[in-house]
Amino acid sequence: MKERKQSKKQLKKKKVELPIPFLSKKPKGKNTQTPLGNMVNMLIVFLVIASLYGLLVGNTNTKPEQVTMSTLVASIKANEVEKVVVSGEELQITKKGGVKQVAKKEIESSLSQTLSNYGVTPAELSQTIIEVKRDTGPLFWLNLIPIIIPILFIGFFIWWISRQAKSGGAAQAFSFGQSKARIIDPNDASQKVTFADVAGNKEAKIELLEIVDFLKNPQKFLDIGAKIPKGALLFGSPGTGKTLMARAVAGEAGVPFFHLSGSEFVEMFVGVGASRVRDLFAMAKKAAPAIIFIDEIDAVGRVRGVGVGGGNDEREQTLNQILVEMDGFEPSTSVIVMAATNRADVLDPALLRPGRFDRRVTLDLPDRSDREAIMNVHAKKKPFASDVNITTIAERTPGFSGADLESLMNEGAILAARKDRKEITQDDLLRSIEKVMLGPERLSHIMSKEEKRLTAYHEGGHALVASVLEHSDPVHKISIIARGRTGGYTLKLPLDERRLQSKKAFLDDIAVSLGGYVAEEMIMGDVTTGPSNDLQVSSAMAREMVTRYGMSDKFGPIAFEAGKGRTMFGEGVSAEISGDLAKQIDEEVARIMREGYEKTKKVLSEYRVVLDAIAEKLVEVETLEQPEYEQILIAHNIPLKKKVII
Ligand code: ADP
Ligand code: MG
Ligand code: ZN
Repeated sequence: MKERKQSKKQLKKKKVELPIPFLSKKPKGKNTQTPLGNMVNMLIVFLVIASLYGLLVGNTNTKPEQVTMSTLVASIKANEVEKVVVSGEELQITKKGGVKQVAKKEIESSLSQTLSNYGVTPAELSQTIIEVKRDTGPLFWLNLIPIIIPILFIGFFIWWISRQAKSGGAAQAFSFGQSKARIIDPNDASQKVTFADVAGNKEAKIELLEIVDFLKNPQKFLDIGAKIPKGALLFGSPGTGKTLMARAVAGEAGVPFFHLSGSEFVEMFVGVGASRVRDLFAMAKKAAPAIIFIDEIDAVGRVRGVGVGGGNDEREQTLNQILVEMDGFEPSTSVIVMAATNRADVLDPALLRPGRFDRRVTLDLPDRSDREAIMNVHAKKKPFASDVNITTIAERTPGFSGADLESLMNEGAILAARKDRKEITQDDLLRSIEKVMLGPERLSHIMSKEEKRLTAYHEGGHALVASVLEHSDPVHKISIIARGRTGGYTLKLPLDERRLQSKKAFLDDIAVSLGGYVAEEMIMGDVTTGPSNDLQVSSAMAREMVTRYGMSDKFGPIAFEAGKGRTMFGEGVSAEISGDLAKQIDEEVARIMREGYEKTKKVLSEYRVVLDAIAEKLVEVETLEQPEYEQILIAHNIPLKKKVII
């Protein structure tokens, strides 16, 4: 959740118009009107049109008196008619006195024919001028107006609605084919990210430098017959800086960066994803050399054809289109597709085939020195008090991602600002570690005296077991202040950054996790729901020892996770382990847990006096930092763990 928010924030960059004719589409008209304003506008337009229409139609209403054919015949016989103008079926009659009348005749027969049928003699008729007009002129158009105006009106209405829709939220419905990529212009200094902004990750940078080189100087590679790689895939847990790294590659190469998230391809209409892919690639090719970056590609790039019901067609079509586009590049097209994911295991193998994403770069969680470097990047523009020691903070934050560290620095600044200080102190940063790790302090949670004592014993139990057992990490801090969802916590940190964990360390860690449970049991003769998370964590550890690391006495060196990954229902543990074997594994896990429990119980019973001392102190001060805690240990002759200098 946190990670998502961050990448959103980071991507909320304005669109940049590139100096490429294709891309400099007319910006969509800004519509500053309120919905109410629109309604009023529309009403006015409607009224104007309606009154115009009325005027035109009303014109024909002021026509002269309409008379019947027989009246006309009578008038002619009486020699009252001066002139009759025939236009089509209309007869415009002008009487001798100047009075005008109109009449209608049948279209098929001529006027003289009709009149003679009515019994008008040629002599009688000769006194009247008969004029025949072929072209009906403006009258003809007037007749059409009642038809044309509504058509015009409807046309205008449709145009108007679509314009509204485009500038409003329903835009996708009208422009669903267009790619929604955000583009970062290489010339926009305010958005430029380079490798200098990405701390650590040396190997990844070296690997990606090659791509920078390709983009800067494609000819060099083409001349020697080398094919330009098409894609690079960035793997790494959330917040390790994948998005940042991709932008830095574009920044280093000075090429436009087309950014789209996997989930943005897929929308409400089938086929939209594929058409967006086409659009995106077409845009990038016009702008070449360029980078297309598809973030969170697992949203579209999951293994095809799995899952109940054969998977999602729309997603598959989108993925196919990406593959087609990547295959369709001319060898000389210098467009490189970068993609990022934290779920490499679920990607479709077709994506990883040579000629597609054949460059793969892994971004690891930062180690101690990288953490320090990342914090230094984010420390720029932040005023620190003289007591700040970033190295210490880096030591205390194993497992933090780049995004976590950025957030830590920010929390520190917020803490200082809230206290109206002008500088950030070491204490601000130390407190921010816990805030980022466990959430804010729960100030509203007031513990009863009994609850406080219980929590103190629980945390004291963890800490004491950790200090006594040989292979567990030293304790840095104990606290019984509730935070986020925890009642209290014990912070223990490895002496050195290690990548490998031994079986002995696993067993001791399980015992430490059970320290809270056993301590509660000892002082209350009962257990609470408090240690439920401890139990989950330690049971999971025990299970991994058996099924993944070959650390169980019973099974020896074997991993039972062969079928993990793809099953009919997506991912999960496969059913390949037989029921009988599963039962044996469960028994082995239970045995490890039981032995851990015995070990913990032995330690806490033996050092009960020390446990009492720690708990008593905790109830009093609520938080124990390492030096104060170690004083209690020294007072009871428990040796301290030495930091190994490496
Ligand atoms: P990801 O895409 O891997 O989830 P991001 O690239 O969005 O991670 O990183 C989130 C933020 O964390 C970045 O904006 C950056 O501020 C910070 N960050 C992550 N890794 C690093 C790093 N190596 N150096 C500097 N800042 C980093
Ligand atoms: Mg990201
Ligand atoms: Zn606990």
